[in-house]
Amino acid sequence: MSDECQQSKTRVQEFLQRELSETEMDAIASHIATCDNCESEYDFEVLFNSVIQRSCSEAPPEELAQRVLARIRDQISKLA
Ligand SMILES: [Zn+2]
Repeated sequence: MSDECQQSKTRVQEFLQRELSETEMDAIASHIATCDNCESEYDFEVLFNSVIQRSCSEAPPEELAQRVLARIRDQISKLA
């Protein structure tokens, strides 16, 4: 696993704890969308869904999660 992959992994955990800005998450999303290693390791849709579900009982990162997810889909569709 490359350093960049390792970093993404760590940052995803931070994102789930809502410690990352949208800009930082965007960088991760871009990496994941273009990295087979990360893409196969994570089901990001599931990850982001868990953020969305948590937002039911907490202050909503829902909009952020939706936007990031849309961005990942956009990146992936460009690659396809
Ligand atoms: Zn990677």
